[in-house]
Amino acid sequence: MSRPGSTGAADSRCPRCRAPILRQLVGRVAALTVTADLTPLSPVQQVEVREPNRLIWCLRSGDHTARRLTWTGRDHPEQCPYPHVTEHRCPPAEPTTLF
Ligand SMILES: [Zn+2]
Ligand SMILES: [Zn+2]
Repeated sequence: MSRPGSTGAADSRCPRCRAPILRQLVGRVAALTVTADLTPLSPVQQVEVREPNRLIWCLRSGDHTARRLTWTGRDHPEQCPYPHVTEHRCPPAEPTTLF
């Protein structure tokens, strides 16, 4: 059913907070659907958001290739030219102001 050149990645928006996200199936053996936030993280933010169950992904793209999430493992280059993103989490609901 997939079109030629399709990578399974699709731009979409979070149904809850409308943030731009990228959903992609990662991994061949233990396939995992990742919902990545498309806002690139600074090196400081990458350290701040890192948790055991929250991975940092490298958002690779080329002129003729679709965007693709790659796991940033131990040997990931420090001077990587691609933006790094993390799993999307909806921000806390806007507090209602009663003034
Ligand atoms: Zn990278
Ligand atoms: Zn959301």
